[in-house]
Parts: sequence; C-alpha cells; structure tokens
Amino acid sequence: DYRSIAHNVELKTANAANRKAPIPPDSVATIALLYRDYTASSKTLNSRRNARSIVSDEIKKQSGDHSTKRKAIEDAKVLKAEISRLELETAELKDRLLTLALAVPNDTHADVCVGPESSAKTLSTHGPECLAASPQRDHVSIGKQLGLLDLESASTATGSSWYYLLNEGALLELALTNYALSMAIAHGFVPVTTPDVVRADIASRCGFQPRDHPDSSVSQAYHIQTPPSSPELLLSGTAEIPLAAMFANKIYPQTSLPQKVVGLGRAFRAEAGARGADTRGLYRVHQFSKVELFAVTSVESSEQMMEDMRQTQTAIYDGLGLPFRVLDMPTEELGASAYRKFDMEAWMPGRGSWGEISSLSNCTDYQSRRLHIRYRPSTSATESSESETSPSSLPFAHTLNGTAAAIPRLIVALIENGAQFDADCKPVGLVLPSVLRPYWLDPENKRGI
Ligand code: AMP
Repeated sequence: DYRSIAHNVELKTANAANRKAPIPPDSVATIALLYRDYTASSKTLNSRRNARSIVSDEIKKQSGDHSTKRKAIEDAKVLKAEISRLELETAELKDRLLTLALAVPNDTHADVCVGPESSAKTLSTHGPECLAASPQRDHVSIGKQLGLLDLESASTATGSSWYYLLNEGALLELALTNYALSMAIAHGFVPVTTPDVVRADIASRCGFQPRDHPDSSVSQAYHIQTPPSSPELLLSGTAEIPLAAMFANKIYPQTSLPQKVVGLGRAFRAEAGARGADTRGLYRVHQFSKVELFAVTSVESSEQMMEDMRQTQTAIYDGLGLPFRVLDMPTEELGASAYRKFDMEAWMPGRGSWGEISSLSNCTDYQSRRLHIRYRPSTSATESSESETSPSSLPFAHTLNGTAAAIPRLIVALIENGAQFDADCKPVGLVLPSVLRPYWLDPENKRGI
C-alpha cells in the first residue's frame, strides 16, 4: 500500500526498527520519494498520451499537405519519443518501488510489547502443576530405552536432526494427528491435505524469504532441482503456504467468510544456524508432520478470529493434559507478516524449560495483498452496484494461521511429562492422555508400555 507507506513515513520507519526488520533505516523514506516521483511520472505520461490522441485526431481531420498537418505530424513525433521515455521511466520507478515496498513488514497491534523474545507477555497458563526439572525425564534417553525413536539409523539414512519414530512413538504421531484434526473439524475447520512442494514465489508472497538467514547465501528452505524453464520450487516449511495459496487470486462474497481450513502437511526446515540443546532429539528437526489451522476473514473480523483460533488451540492442548502457557509475542518475534502473534509453550521437565509447541498469527492483509485475496463487502454501496465495482477497489481479506499440532514437539512434551519409572529410575512406561484412545491403532497395548 504505497500511499499508506508514503503518508506514514515516521510510523512505518519506527515500526520496522521495532521489529528489527532487515531493511535499511531510510527504506521507508526512499519509498515515499519514489512514490512521489512515480505518481508525477504517471501523471505526465497520461497527459502526453492524451495530447497524442488529440494530435492524431487532428492529423486524421486534415487533408492535403498544408503546414497545419505538417506541424501536427511533427508534434506527434515529438510526443511519441517523449511517451517512450516516460514509459521506461515510470516502469523503472514502479519496479524499484515494488522491490522496496515488498520488504516492509506488516504493521503491529498496539498491545504488542516492543523488544526481543524475553519481553513476551504471559496471557494465561493452563493444565496441571509443572513437574520438577530433571535430566531423568529427557525425552531422548526415555525414547531410546522404551524403543520409541531411533536417531542413529536416521543419521545413516539422512543425517543429524532426522529421526525414525518406532512402536508407540509412531502410533503417537498418527493418534495426535487425527486427534488434532478431529478437534479442528469440531471447531468448524474444513480438512485439507496439501502439496508439500510450493513455488518459491508463493512462499515469499506469504512472508517467507527462502534466503532470510543473516548470511543470504544460506537458505532456510530446501530447494528442489527443476528443469531450467520451470518455476523455482521449495519443500514447504509449513502447510500455511499451500493453504494460503488455495485462496490466491479469488474474490469472496463477505457472506462466505470466514473460510476456515485445517491442513495436514509435512514441514521441511533447513534450520541453518541451529545448534545446542535445541537440536537434541526431536525438538528441532528437519522434517515434521504438522496440523495447521488457516482462516480468511473480513477486516473487521480478524481479531475475533484470532481469539476463536486461540480457543481451538487451547482446547487441543488442554485435552492433552499438558502444563502450558500462552504468550503475546513482542515486536522482534513477529517476522515480516504477523500483525500479532501468540505462542504457546509447554513445560518440558527433561529439557528443564518451556518449549514452544504452537504459534498463532494474525497476518491482516500482508499475505492477501501479495496473493490477491479480496472480498466483496455485503453492507456498503458496493452491494447494489456489484457488477460495476472493479475488483481492484475491493478490500483485501485478512489471513490467520495457527498450529493445531506440531507432532515432534508434542511427543517431547508427552514423553517428558508422562514417563513412568521403576524403583531403579528406569523408564518402564508412558501415561498418555485418554483423548488419544479413539485414535490409537493398538488398543490392546501389545507391548504393555
Ligand atoms: P512456525 O511455523 O515456525 O511458527 O512453527 C510452528 C510450530 O512448529 C512451532 O510452534 C513449533 O512447535 C514447531 N516447530 C517449528 N520448527 C520446528 C522444528 N525445526 N522441529 C520441530 N518442530 C518445530
């Protein structure tokens, strides 16, 4: 929205700085200047085009070879050259404007704290009391002893931070997936399975820059080798991307909003730069199953939708009996696209810390502007003159996304909170939430764990 950027230079510059957006400090001011030049150049171009059409009419009207006609032909030549120059100038300004404006982050909700992750505000806490932190509860050692995961073979097959889930570990993935899907469906989300490969261009329209690592030669996404003439493709980092793309280039009657979907996809993340405790076991891996909520709403309804999605997520994690808390994330944690973001963290006693299990973002019109998702308001004058309203004057919808289940993180939390030990402190079993029972593929519990 060039006009809004140009009219709010100070606000947008401060907003980008508060969010630590990776753009030069004078970027917004440059956009304002370019926009002024672009508007002037487009105006002059239009006036020259009008002049040329008047001159062309003049030439047509004149017969013979008298001086008035010769003068009009001369004028037309001069105008033609000027129009070519102005077309080039306007197109160049438009290109530069777009490149800079695409990098400007979304606005920020007034209640969001300015600062880094440590400034997050706790909105609520849920579930039972936290168990004491203890290395005995580490999910990696429990998982190995109970035969739930195999990291060594995965290291042979693929590399570090890849994993096999075995026995109840594998059953947990399936049960958690179906539990989260069924909870989302009960809350009105339509189930979708998504392509896990997406165009790089679509990912970037959703706010994911594959090369947004500080060292821009390092990609956070896995790229797929494609024939030279095909579009650049990535393994999707989240089902949010294919879900958002489902709505691209469409106009929805307001009465058909909200559109709510729940997607099941595999998320692939290069996790360049990740190291330390986070990369142990299942916490930060390169591939994971994720059940993702996605909604398209009207401008007026997105804040309420964020509350509704928070309730859906809370119901899912409450059902799992985990101690967890909801955080209102500060400016430096919002990325490019989120206007506001709530993270949920579960207590993980083996890690001795809270660990993020889910994230919920209201992206307002950041993604819909780039993906061309609009709606036709049902109350304004546009309703009566529907057929005359040009699509470009219709408002952009708001989009929201939230995690219903990021499987490995939930498995970490369930193992670390639910492990049972014998008198010698050896893990002997797992207490799992009863809500998973209908989705458990081994109801007889053959291994007795
Ligand atoms: P994001 O799309 O980055 O907000 O991630 C959604 C959720 O996926 C997070 O809240 C985490 O629970 C989980 N997650 C993110 N990255 C990873 C990873 N590399 N390995 C396992 N889980 C992850």
